Amino acid sequence: MSSESSVWAPRDLRLRLVRDRLHEASLEALLVSHMPSIRWLTGFTGSSGFLLVEPGSATLITDFRYEAQASEEVCDGVSVAITATDLFAELARCLDEGASGPRVGFEDHVLTVKDRRALGESCGAVTWEAAGPLVDELRSTKDPGEIEAISRAVRMAESALSEVLGIVTEGMTETELAAELVYRLRRAGSETLPFDPIVASGPRSALPHAHPGERKLREGDFLLLDFGARVDGYCSDMTRTFVLGSAARWQREVHGVVAEAVERAIAAACAGATAQAVDRAARDVIVAAGYGDRFGHGTGHGVGLEVHERPSVNARSRETLASGNVVTIEPAVYLPGRGGVRLEEVVVAGEDGAAVLTGFPRDLREL
Ligand code: ZN
Ligand code: ZN
Repeated sequence: MSSESSVWAPRDLRLRLVRDRLHEASLEALLVSHMPSIRWLTGFTGSSGFLLVEPGSATLITDFRYEAQASEEVCDGVSVAITATDLFAELARCLDEGASGPRVGFEDHVLTVKDRRALGESCGAVTWEAAGPLVDELRSTKDPGEIEAISRAVRMAESALSEVLGIVTEGMTETELAAELVYRLRRAGSETLPFDPIVASGPRSALPHAHPGERKLREGDFLLLDFGARVDGYCSDMTRTFVLGSAARWQREVHGVVAEAVERAIAAACAGATAQAVDRAARDVIVAAGYGDRFGHGTGHGVGLEVHERPSVNARSRETLASGNVVTIEPAVYLPGRGGVRLEEVVVAGEDGAAVLTGFPRDLREL
């Protein structure tokens, strides 16, 4: 990561940072098509549109459905172009193709093959260049307002969890519990949930992305809950694993190993650390306990306007944590046929270490 991306960007600076990047990449413009990035740059919360960023202007191109909303939401320095027909034709109209044809970047990590073809057809004189996740990289460093929104989403999720734990009973199905959790998250004020909560009990807790099913909760089960809330578009993401009734020795042991892995990874998650080193800090604990092959996913991921965004915290990541990166730490141990434990925290990387946004106790709780 360049040093520039470690500087957080209040909204009025965000477009300027993009323009600096364009300049570095010798591009004349950038076509932003990833909706979370459009929201981050302009404030527009609609579900369809393009943002064309040029050195002296920025134009949000969207359709008739968003006419009133777009002009209400977009920040200063962004103009709105509404089309009744198609975004590509409007884009061609907005883009000054000139005689020589400008070099315009597009987000090749999100643009579909079909849309890439349409760009070529509608703006024939443009040289389209894959610009990579340029805006996503800038978005990975959060400003204090963004961290506050994520913190509020964390607190909302925690209060919904506290409420739901009060009604967990044997015989309740995972689906019923998931519905109770969704209801409480929304009632606590969450916008559309970042993802459907995972409620996995007993042996099903060993499935990393289990969908809640009709299994009934039983005494002695592990109960894994992974869920989040959303505030001002920003997501939270947390996981806790409980035991129904008294925990068996093996359950305590596995939970203890995962809790230790969380602590080590949090201690490693300071600005300047590589994402690989943070992953290794968690993984070393799990490997040393003999469960290395039972932790098959990465340690964490960035959280923001998307529930999974940059930086990735895993063994293959080439990213380095910067001050203001908000990431999850979610090591796990999955024992097929028996059950699994995952614990997930949201932390903010800083020069003096990580600040943990999640406040819910991490020790093994018997319900
Ligand atoms: Zn999660
Ligand atoms: Zn997560």
